[in-house]
Amino acid sequence: MKPRLQSTLLYNWWVMKLKNGEKWPGWRAAKKTLQASKQHDPELKQVYGKLLQEVYFRLGAAMDAFFKRVQTGEKPGFPRVRPRHCFFTLVYPAMYLKLEGKTLILPTGGKGKKNKHYANVRAELTEAPPEGYHEVAISRDARGNYFASFSYPVAEQEPQSGGVVAFDLGIKTLAAGVNEQGRRYHIGSFKGGRWYNKQLDKIRSKRDKCQKKSRRYIHLSKVYQRVSEKKRNKQRDSLHKASHLIAAKLVERTVVIGDLSQRQMAMRERAKEKPNRFKNRAVFNDWGCYTLTQMLEYKCLLYGKELVKLDERNTSKTCSRCGHVQDMPLWKRTYRCENCGLVMDRDDNSAENILARFFARRGPHTSLGECGVLSEDQNGVEATKASCPIQVQQLK
Ligand SMILES: [Zn+2]
Repeated sequence: MKPRLQSTLLYNWWVMKLKNGEKWPGWRAAKKTLQASKQHDPELKQVYGKLLQEVYFRLGAAMDAFFKRVQTGEKPGFPRVRPRHCFFTLVYPAMYLKLEGKTLILPTGGKGKKNKHYANVRAELTEAPPEGYHEVAISRDARGNYFASFSYPVAEQEPQSGGVVAFDLGIKTLAAGVNEQGRRYHIGSFKGGRWYNKQLDKIRSKRDKCQKKSRRYIHLSKVYQRVSEKKRNKQRDSLHKASHLIAAKLVERTVVIGDLSQRQMAMRERAKEKPNRFKNRAVFNDWGCYTLTQMLEYKCLLYGKELVKLDERNTSKTCSRCGHVQDMPLWKRTYRCENCGLVMDRDDNSAENILARFFARRGPHTSLGECGVLSEDQNGVEATKASCPIQVQQLK
């Protein structure tokens, strides 16, 4: 797919210019320079204009994030040049696409026969696209598979009636929940992670014994990618099933979970202090909880549930019966209260605490909106997209 490469090159060209001290004019002004760039590099003329414009949006977003980091005093980290194999995700508005049966036709740009160097891309779809889609994103994974994601509007369901269920998200038990009536839910996580990690370690150590760039080295790298993709897919699948269960199958209307952002930060700090493979993997596993939260966000919206995130500090250390606080290292799976003698599964105890905290925050007269609900996503774009379900399918 040539247009992707051109987009990447245009992006990199701008990053280099900025690194050399050129002032970022903002994406609107930068976009106006596209015509001049086309004169400079005739290859660009053959790329679909809409796609090139996307480059300026991306660059603008990257620069905004950079300035924000500078302002808040974080380590800024200038936007980076993208390697050739890291392609953009290209977003096509629906009106520029044609569909013939299950064949999707993507325009590649170039006006008239003379300028048209690349034939329009024809891609076979695996299933019929959803009706009334308004955007299609084409992306590519590490192994070179192409995917089309259709985003389409769906009428959100009417909120269901009553009930609250609280979940503690964890690594061993993906989600342990309890509702007002004391009914418990346990959702296990993907079990094969360890097995896959072991296999991946084996493949990598075999590969690292080979001479770099030798045929066997390249072969083993490919195997490594294939296996890790399989692991990722299985993990994702289990997250989708869990979030669907919570958002679509349970009768409770309000779902309460802990806010993970604090947990993430603490984990990252710890991993930085003592870098070791297993801890890094633990951080990565925690990323699974984070993905689950994101899935819950859009699925709850879709099925008419309300998702409430609240501060989960100390929820695993506190006794859910008497409020006593004691240390709970991660390996302790059972909570044994030193004060009142309560014995309970660690995750169940946390879920009870989250539920209690939800009711305490809400209080008798305050409305739901004032109880520390974090509905805004860090990234505004993601938040608006959450209401649009996305159909993803692999292209042949
Ligand atoms: Zn107690």
